[in-house]
Amino acid sequence: MAGIDDLPPLRAVIAEHGIAAKKSLGQNFLLDLNLTARIARAAGDLTQCDVLEVGPGPGGLTRGLLAQGARKVLAIEKDARCLPALAQIADAYPGRLEVLNADALEVDPLQYLTPPIRIVSNLPYNVGTELLTRWLSPPDWPPVWESLTLMFQKEVAQRIVARPGDKAYGRLAILARWRTDPAIVLTLPPEAFTPAPKVHSAVVHLKALPEPRFPADPKVLNRVVAAGFNQRRKMLRSSLKTLGPDIEQKLSEAGIPPTARAEEIDLESWCRLARVIARQD
Ligand code: SAM
Repeated sequence: MAGIDDLPPLRAVIAEHGIAAKKSLGQNFLLDLNLTARIARAAGDLTQCDVLEVGPGPGGLTRGLLAQGARKVLAIEKDARCLPALAQIADAYPGRLEVLNADALEVDPLQYLTPPIRIVSNLPYNVGTELLTRWLSPPDWPPVWESLTLMFQKEVAQRIVARPGDKAYGRLAILARWRTDPAIVLTLPPEAFTPAPKVHSAVVHLKALPEPRFPADPKVLNRVVAAGFNQRRKMLRSSLKTLGPDIEQKLSEAGIPPTARAEEIDLESWCRLARVIARQD
């Protein structure tokens, strides 16, 4: 059985198994194990946790997670070419790495894990926002996971942590801050990846709060915020017209000037408006 110190360098692994990066799968690999160790550490203490990793590729971050002591890692990889490289890692960490050859958008792997659960991934950029939105919108809160530590392109990371008045402030910022504590913990230049993407990247850590910061029905909040930001340059009395004829009165009741625009409204006010609208629905 291979030991942890016997694992070959990632460049050699990629060459041996012919894992030439495919653009269609968003493959930009991290080959510097010091860097993957830093990302794994940014996820917090993993020693008591099961970890879900989406898109392990040749396994650089997977190695980091296991070396940081994750109790178990469940890695979901769509590209079957990566499986032999991952099997080698599983061999070096007996019983701690399970690999699922599947599309992360098609399976719900959280049910296979035992809490406490953390999600840590260098996500394929084409599915990153969709997965984040799903993880932030479980049927019940708190979710089964404790934290998300995820790589995004920098612009998306900025949308997640944005505050009212920021250019990047919108639906994603509200969804994230309503029930988590989101923060950018690391930014990376294109050269950190092989091949180098065109954009800079950033790791966002989102810690689940035990309960939402302000009460609101998730569906109503989502509907109100979506309507507001779909026409972000318009005044709310006009962009929210689709929510009912008496929207000006509801805005006033929620303490929001009907002439304000979506990008100026803070999370507490959005939640208040969602509650007023839910009462009268
Ligand atoms: N984690 C590796 C690293 O840091 O070097 C690879 C990251 S690469 C940005 C994204 C990985 O996600 C690739 O290995 C790709 O094959 C995989 N992938 C892409 N779409 C996927 C999907 N829908 N489900 C699961 N894996 C996917």
